[in-house]
Amino acid sequence: MRKKVIKVSNLKLGGKNSIVIKGMIKTSLEDNKNFLKEVKLLKQEGCQILRVAIEKEGDLKVIDRLRKLIDIPLEADIHFNYRLALSALEKGVDCLRLNPLNIYKKSHLTKIAKLAKEKSTPIRVGVNSGGFKKRMDSRELAQAMVKKVFSYVEFLESLNFKRIMVSAKAESCLATILANQILYKKLPYPIHLGLTATGPLYEGLIKSCLTLGILIYQGIGSAIRVSLNSSSWEEVRTAGWILQSLGKGYFYPEIISCPTCSRCKVDLKKKVEKFKEMVYKNKDSLYNKNMKVALMGCVVNGPGEASTSDLGLAFAGRRALLFKRGKIIKAIEERGSLDTLLYFLKRS
Ligand code: SF4
Repeated sequence: MRKKVIKVSNLKLGGKNSIVIKGMIKTSLEDNKNFLKEVKLLKQEGCQILRVAIEKEGDLKVIDRLRKLIDIPLEADIHFNYRLALSALEKGVDCLRLNPLNIYKKSHLTKIAKLAKEKSTPIRVGVNSGGFKKRMDSRELAQAMVKKVFSYVEFLESLNFKRIMVSAKAESCLATILANQILYKKLPYPIHLGLTATGPLYEGLIKSCLTLGILIYQGIGSAIRVSLNSSSWEEVRTAGWILQSLGKGYFYPEIISCPTCSRCKVDLKKKVEKFKEMVYKNKDSLYNKNMKVALMGCVVNGPGEASTSDLGLAFAGRRALLFKRGKIIKAIEERGSLDTLLYFLKRS
């Protein structure tokens, strides 16, 4: 099926275009200080479309505030209130997210589609499993979600509205995978991938990587939003790593490290975490560096096991070996070795 490309502001989604990372504001819109901090962090992490929940007319002021702060396209997330959707369109949002489970009257949707068409604003038809009251197994839930998406899309198409993006999210990995596979097979529109209500952070990370990883590997998805019970910048960073891990873009140098064994005489976990922070602090100069950096627990096997890396350190008590593509460059003091590694990384 020939896939459609839509534009969200100047960003192209769908077809062969790169997968776009979406983020969402979590701070209360009234909490000015933390709001500014969050927006800055989201931008720094690489958020490409920013979604913001609009609950009342007064919230629309946030659009102007955001326009002054960032040049990222804005998606207004509207539930229940179709008039609010019309106001958001008038305000000039770049994309509208509607939930077919709570804005569904044809007369309301007709008004929204008419105005969205005039404004050339795309609509994301976003169904979440939370809106279904009946308990269902994964297959039934997937079918129920896509059915809602299909009928909404059909109605929009009947109004000759085609600037559509779709999404179907559940807390269940299986239901989300199945639903998105069906959407991809049956519809030409870009798909926004994500899970919902992923639970505790560790479990949420696993579910997100698994679900989005499988779908992206199958060629499904034009935008991703990782939902975690954590900060929004972590969601964006996770989305970036999912894409990078699947070769769908390069953002930062990749740190690899051995799992350690009894040969390791240093606290490698601590060193890896420290080096990761050093990389992120220097991300402006390291952004888009498609490099692998290894931190290995011993000199016996370290350089050899990390021979595919571009640069690395293998630790031996108070000394460390600095190596490049498996070949040892020199032995250095363990203390300060991470700074030396960063120095070489920046200059590579
Ligand atoms: S690199 Fe050394 S410390 Fe790390 S797992 Fe291999 S043998 Fe063990």
